[in-house]
Amino acid sequence: MPIEIFEVGVIGAGYVGLATGACLAHLGHRVTCLDIDEERVTSLVEGRVPFHEPGLEELVARTALAGRLSFAGTEGLAGVVRGADVVFIAVGTPQGDDGSADLSNVESVARQVGSALAGPAPRERPLVVVNKSTVPVGSGDYVSGLIREGAGGEDVADFLVASNPEFLREGSAVYDTLFPDRIVVGADSREPLETMRMLYEPIIGQTFPTEMDPRPKTTVPFVTTDLASAEMIKYASNAFLATKISFINEIANLCELTGADVSGVATGIGLDGRIGSRFLNPGIGWGGSCFPKDVAALRAAAREYGHEMPLLDATVTVNERQRGRVIQKLEQDLHTLRDKRIVLLGLSFKPNTDDLRGAPSIEIARALDDLGAKVVGYDPVAGKAAAKLLPALQVLFDPNDAIEGAHAVVVVTEWEEIRDLDPKKAASLMLEPKLVVDGRNALDPASWREAGILYRGFGRG
Ligand code: NAD
Repeated sequence: MPIEIFEVGVIGAGYVGLATGACLAHLGHRVTCLDIDEERVTSLVEGRVPFHEPGLEELVARTALAGRLSFAGTEGLAGVVRGADVVFIAVGTPQGDDGSADLSNVESVARQVGSALAGPAPRERPLVVVNKSTVPVGSGDYVSGLIREGAGGEDVADFLVASNPEFLREGSAVYDTLFPDRIVVGADSREPLETMRMLYEPIIGQTFPTEMDPRPKTTVPFVTTDLASAEMIKYASNAFLATKISFINEIANLCELTGADVSGVATGIGLDGRIGSRFLNPGIGWGGSCFPKDVAALRAAAREYGHEMPLLDATVTVNERQRGRVIQKLEQDLHTLRDKRIVLLGLSFKPNTDDLRGAPSIEIARALDDLGAKVVGYDPVAGKAAAKLLPALQVLFDPNDAIEGAHAVVVVTEWEEIRDLDPKKAASLMLEPKLVVDGRNALDPASWREAGILYRGFGRG
């Protein structure tokens, strides 16, 4: 069945906006991605994706060549909004000083959308303005109000607001957008829900080429709900995942004391269908561009309502402790860290991305620097950005160069390049006590110990 082709505007061409825009163009829609960052727009127009996201550059090139994906600066916003059926807001919502989400980017975009919609402009169907940015409950209504305000008291062309929270993971953003576990859309009337269902129909029905995903096809659940619930689903999902990691970290810490091995424990509990095996990997804890700020925003929202969330408080406390446990493990075997060469393997917050926002490596590097260690870092893609962010960090671009002369190595991010390191080679390059603190339980302890390395994992007996 032919799909209905929509004109789509995506405001904010970052990890989320660009993946959304390119994937919608791949499905057949006509998409313009807009960004306030002129350098970013120029780079995209020239065919370069300005961050590391596997498969995205190819998809952008293919859909741009097919004439379905284009880019513009925000000076083009009014034209795009007027001609669009659906406009996504996919700008950053960083953590504000009090922990709550800083909505200034969303506010500015909503006002600009309002000013573009000012005046009578007959439309075939109402424009659907979709909040894809992660925003607190109530933001949908807030955005509606700002759009009207942006019109400066004039009539506003027909528009409806929907919430469509994003669940993609950096490092597999294209795959996650095309093959999501579910699509959630919230709105307070039926019309935007229907428009969004039509927009996503090829994903829901999987009616497009699926060579990327060999799994047997089933339809993707399309969850429709009200605005407030959709907004809450996003925060609740991230808070739950962060809690799951903190939970297994607590169990791992007890395993270390009792002699149990958390790897087996995680397998044993994860096979329970009610629990599930993912997100049960202990180590240095969660970080990244979303979990810390989203958990903080949820706690801030609870505070606003005078509501206590002790479980979330503990989730954060446990996570903070895990960072400290890296230092403890180093000190236990090195005694003092002063003048010790300590290598952080992996700097991005997770593998397959260059994103350093909320990366544990940054916190750990700062702590080690404060303790007088010589901190060296290696990352397959995030090295240059990390060096800029942390002048005290010496960044090397070959893992063996980094390891040479190290007293200790900390596996911070489990990139394949790091999992695949040769333990014998590492042992030959390192200085006593040849300590490896495996912050992701990513290495095979037996082969590293056999090579003469003092291996310390998390909760591994
Ligand atoms: P990002 O920083 O990669 O991209 C945001 C983009 O918005 C930037 O390119 C920035 O220049 C642009 N921008 C900011 N203000 C603008 C304005 N006024 N007009 C036009 N463009 C503007 O951010 P991201 O990681 O893509 O996240 C976007 C949103 O999606 C956030 O709310 C985030 O919490 C949420 N989210 C992110 C992920 C993720 O893994 N990155 C996953 C799910 C949800």
